[in-house]
Amino acid sequence: MSDIEIAQQATMKPIIGLAEEKLGIPAEHLDPYGHYKAKVSLEYLNSLTDQEDGKLILVTAISPTPAGEGKTTTTVGLGDAMNRLGKKTIMCLREPSLGPCFGMKGGAAGGGYAQVVPMEDINLHFTGDFHAIGVAHNLLSAMIDNHINHGNELGIDSRRITWKRVVDMNDRALRKITVGQGGPANGYLREDGYDIVVASEIMAILCLATSHADLKERLGRIVVAYKADRVTPIYARDLNAHGAMAALLKEAIKPNLVQTLENNIAIIHGGPFANIAHGCNTVTATKTALKLADYAITEAGFGADLGAEKFLDIKCRMSGLKPSAVVLVATVRALKFHGGVAREDLNNENLEALQKGFANLERHLHNVTVNYGLPCVVSINHFTFDSEAEIALLQEKCAALGVKCVVAKHWAEGGAGAEELAREVLDIVDHREPDFNYVYDADLPLWDKIETISTKLYGAAGITASPKVKTEINALQEKYGHFPICMAKTQMSFSTDPTAKGAPSGHTIEIREVRLANGAGFIVAIAGDMMTMPGLPKVPAAERIDISDDGVITGLF
Ligand code: ADP
Ligand code: MG
Repeated sequence: MSDIEIAQQATMKPIIGLAEEKLGIPAEHLDPYGHYKAKVSLEYLNSLTDQEDGKLILVTAISPTPAGEGKTTTTVGLGDAMNRLGKKTIMCLREPSLGPCFGMKGGAAGGGYAQVVPMEDINLHFTGDFHAIGVAHNLLSAMIDNHINHGNELGIDSRRITWKRVVDMNDRALRKITVGQGGPANGYLREDGYDIVVASEIMAILCLATSHADLKERLGRIVVAYKADRVTPIYARDLNAHGAMAALLKEAIKPNLVQTLENNIAIIHGGPFANIAHGCNTVTATKTALKLADYAITEAGFGADLGAEKFLDIKCRMSGLKPSAVVLVATVRALKFHGGVAREDLNNENLEALQKGFANLERHLHNVTVNYGLPCVVSINHFTFDSEAEIALLQEKCAALGVKCVVAKHWAEGGAGAEELAREVLDIVDHREPDFNYVYDADLPLWDKIETISTKLYGAAGITASPKVKTEINALQEKYGHFPICMAKTQMSFSTDPTAKGAPSGHTIEIREVRLANGAGFIVAIAGDMMTMPGLPKVPAAERIDISDDGVITGLF
């Protein structure tokens, strides 16, 4: 059965009753969006401040293959398993982006028997948060051009506008456009472009903001352009845009509740790109889950070198969150891929390749346990073709490193298939004290921060940059030297070459560009080509998506 068929057979419970039954949230503090989705009021969340926090568990992965290794399914499966064992657990996920649903990647609501529902709603529109973010973003864009049109009192250099427009669709034709065509009545002609909504700085801001006031302050300090002197920034607050933008985000800031196939509560909120942004769900959602449950499980995008690094060095640092354990998801298939096996041969047993590809897992494990000081368990996301011998080899190699490695079968069996994983995680969380530290200090210079991430986590020999980029980094150092770094590089490799599999060492990370995300509060360091507006493949998934006369959606995956 396909993911959507499994999801459509789920017996969902009305979310209002379920949230009260499982978590004790009074109905008056929930805003229902239909019967199976609801937002939690901020007043209620604020009333929980004195409650003790639960324990935080991070789900991350080895360097992924293009299919994804199963972080979302593992997060859902582990959460269902912990609830089965009688542990009050909430899963915190990211909201799927609409564009990729119609492209190649499909949806992002888990898979098999480890899913969140209603799957179609979650993947299409959901509660409208992304629309709100897109509109808030484009309001600012419109106000920039409008300001220039009406005399440009602020002296915006229209060639130095850094704030583009956004739409939640994979549409390569919009990457570079010209606006203001048609003569003086339509403003000034200039080059512009579109990013996908999840790449908007407002998405990152919403995910890090802790209140309406914090949200508004961050929106106000977004840098949208520079004056003709090249260095004087124009802020969103100079255009008086931040109040209206925050108003548009009034509902989007509230976390969304849904349920898993096994009727456990999941919070799905926020979804920044994992490359040019930090790739984690909202701080509000994670903190809410920690107040409402004894355990909160959350997923960070891409592999641990990017996702976990940004979760720990950006999100945790900014919010004070501290994880108690890390689940590192690996698949036999992906490790064989890292060992040099071609994609079409991944279903055949190959112990030699697995042995070789293990280097990738080993590097990630070292990073989590040694560089961050976090206890870790390896979870093998089980695929039908995995052989007994392959699994035994993986467990043996992990045991040699002193790390537990369990097989999880939630994709095929639901929560019951992840009970062993749940017991391991509980054993760690309840008995081991993490010795958590960030990989770099906040007061290290920006250049040294990038170098530390690259050498310590990526195994690089060092970093380079053109004189132009070095000058930009030095300029940012003065005012923003205390900001954390948001690394943007390929998720496929520890290096900047996506084809360098396993655990490459001694390579050089070239920083090609740096961008200031002043509202989010980090510096984006771009190593390699970063796509902020994806395109659709030759045969987009959209061609298979349909709706029947009685309103049943098919073809989403
Ligand atoms: P990630 O969060 O790491 O990107 P997901 O959990 O979303 O990965 O899984 C990616 C895709 O792979 C989903 O479509 C899911 O249905 C599929 N998948 C995950 N685990 C398995 C498995 N064990 N067997 C078969 N398909 C799987
Ligand atoms: Mg995922």
